[in-house]
Amino acid sequence: MICSLCPRACGAERDAEAGRGFCRLGEEMRLARIAPHLWEEPPISGQKGTGAVFFSGCTLRCVYCQNGEISHRNAGRLFTPAQLADSLRRLTDMGMQSVSFITATPFVPKILETLELYRPPVPLVWNTSGYETVDTLRALDGVIDVYLPDLKHHSPEVARVCCGAPDYFEVASAAIEEMVRQRGAARYDGQGIMRSGVLIRHLILPGCTGDSIALLDWVKERFPSGVPVSLMQQYVPCNGVSVPGLNRRITAREYHRVRDHMEQLGLDGFWQGATSATEDFIPVFNRDESFV
Ligand code: SF4
Repeated sequence: MICSLCPRACGAERDAEAGRGFCRLGEEMRLARIAPHLWEEPPISGQKGTGAVFFSGCTLRCVYCQNGEISHRNAGRLFTPAQLADSLRRLTDMGMQSVSFITATPFVPKILETLELYRPPVPLVWNTSGYETVDTLRALDGVIDVYLPDLKHHSPEVARVCCGAPDYFEVASAAIEEMVRQRGAARYDGQGIMRSGVLIRHLILPGCTGDSIALLDWVKERFPSGVPVSLMQQYVPCNGVSVPGLNRRITAREYHRVRDHMEQLGLDGFWQGATSATEDFIPVFNRDESFV
């Protein structure tokens, strides 16, 4: 296939197992982990967990990524749609309260094939960097129940340094508008699980509180009737990041500056605690026990 599934718009050829585009992925699905995951936001994980399906590769590849083994180095193994459908059935049997597709954009056609074979009876969550084209999201309209996009950077310069994508905000803001157009206001079931909607994630970066505040202001202005935000403070320098300023965790003062602003804006959502600011929470990928 000649690929333009993501905003990198490589127009690159992808054969079955390898590709010549930015992501270097082939057409067949490559997966690094399929397992229950308890540490997402409460409306995603619930009490029993989300069935987390980690796809190999990434179309953004942030320099500080905590999952560099899969996002930068494409660790994983090939799966056919029938094999993934079997894994989704096993996740259903384990009582997962949602199923999350994580950085799955390069495999949208194969995921649609998979869901023709088996669609889990729980909300399907699209966990994404936010760097998505509106065209690819439209292929998911009516398929995905909950969008869980990051909203990472406002400044083109910060986005250029962190992920080589100075157009990040322009692209991600248009993508989130499309997600909200598709799913509308958040709806929850009696157990507090999000059945439909959009939950925006923002990770505060060291030295970048001005960027965080600009993003929260955009959410408030663009969605005055409310889209929930998950504010995360657990930045850990990972993946051998060498960019000056990104080699430390955020300070309490930085966290409170952004959190106070979110409170002042009256945004709905969550604050994730520093207890998860540890590499202990980074899952092990691509071992036999990584797949249900
Ligand atoms: S999915 Fe991969 S090959 Fe396709 S446009 Fe994006 S980076 Fe390029």
